[in-house]
Amino acid sequence: MPAKPIQSVRGVWDLKPDEASAWRRAEEAVRATLEGAGYGEFRVPVLEHAELYRRSVGEHTDIVQKEMYNLEGSKGQMLTLRPEATAGIVRAALEHGLHRGRHRFWCAGPMFRRERPQRGRLRQFHQFDAEAIGYAGPDIDAELIALAARIFREMGVEGLVLEINSLGGPDCRRAYRQNLRAYFQDHFESLDADSRLRLNANPLRILDSRNPEMSGLIAGAPDIAEFLEPESAEHLSALESLLASIGLPYRRNSRLVRGLDYYSRTVFEFLTDRLGAQNAVCAGGRYDGLVEQLGGPPTPAVGWAMGIERLMELASPPPPPGRTRVYLVLIGGLAVQQSGLRLAEKLRNECAFLDLEMHCGGGRAATQMRRASRSGAQYALIVGERELAAGAAGLKDLRRQSEQEDVPLEALPQALEECAARTRTIPFHG
Ligand code: ATP
Ligand code: MG
Repeated sequence: MPAKPIQSVRGVWDLKPDEASAWRRAEEAVRATLEGAGYGEFRVPVLEHAELYRRSVGEHTDIVQKEMYNLEGSKGQMLTLRPEATAGIVRAALEHGLHRGRHRFWCAGPMFRRERPQRGRLRQFHQFDAEAIGYAGPDIDAELIALAARIFREMGVEGLVLEINSLGGPDCRRAYRQNLRAYFQDHFESLDADSRLRLNANPLRILDSRNPEMSGLIAGAPDIAEFLEPESAEHLSALESLLASIGLPYRRNSRLVRGLDYYSRTVFEFLTDRLGAQNAVCAGGRYDGLVEQLGGPPTPAVGWAMGIERLMELASPPPPPGRTRVYLVLIGGLAVQQSGLRLAEKLRNECAFLDLEMHCGGGRAATQMRRASRSGAQYALIVGERELAAGAAGLKDLRRQSEQEDVPLEALPQALEECAARTRTIPFHG
């Protein structure tokens, strides 16, 4: 009896080769956009001390209270599979002295949260992150938002709504928090269980509730806009005028808070109505207190995280990349195979624009040609006994179903170059 297959872990998934190539193109687009704007890639580990998230994301967040994948280190210390990237990047920046002066970073990779799996909500998911450390002004907030919008444009994602808000500085947030707590305390009977828990620890998070029964109560809550100290109000209006100056539409939403504790002043989200309840594709904000909270000097900073699964679900299928794909059909015995392998090596060496897939495993010509068509190749190259004797290969345009044309082996690179020039498609970045 065959052994029982082992299944993947719930809430995680496999990226199959065709999906992986679409992801890779997205990664390349993001890399080009961010590196071009002066953001350097910071590759930080997936494994960190649990303490890092307790101190940054916050004790009273869903992430720390119920979503972290913890494991025990060799000395009994608690380690965590990172649930988000900002805390790790700040930890690493501090460790390497990259918090002094100004730094722009980006990173990409898997995050882990023990959530209830559903469409657009996984336990291992992936993010692009962009972070700017040491920058205080609204100019960088605007730049980060504009870069996210640019990435969406490049990926063909349309119809997103940008919402922004300010959570003010620590003093005004304290005043607002007290006011909010008093308001919800007065309506304690109408609070759901989650909100009751949040009431004392962090009443701002009640505004983040997804429970429709809470929406009326939340709509009547005090508005943070009335609590902003002059500097934060100015910061917000400068950000608004910067976004307006590049014609980037946005909506002020004074109920937007974000589920992590470290945010201050600017917060923002890009929202979609195409992914059901999972409506945020990119979210971020300013975290002026975080570097200090993690043991560094007071340092302003701001960043965002973009969910790659959600991004890819909204992205229009990218046009084929600017390369030419050829399938090498080999009909015959060992001599043909030798000649085929030699030809494959020669073309891979000489034609940088070429992707060449060599047929392996023999089989009839018709079967091989069928495989060639299915492979996505634009051209088939055919070598059989007849071609071998003639020192040539057959070249066939699979899209046009044209007749096979014999090309001498030494003329092949040139002939393929001409094919490539004819079929060259628009590259992904447009
Ligand atoms: P949500 O409100 O959807 O729970 P969040 O506020 O918890 O999101 P962030 O921590 O801000 O999410 O993460 C930034 C982005 O990462 C989100 O906007 C989303 O696109 C993506 N993301 C977050 N959690 C998940 C998940 N469990 N599965 C897939 N993508 C996720
Ligand atoms: Mg969440």
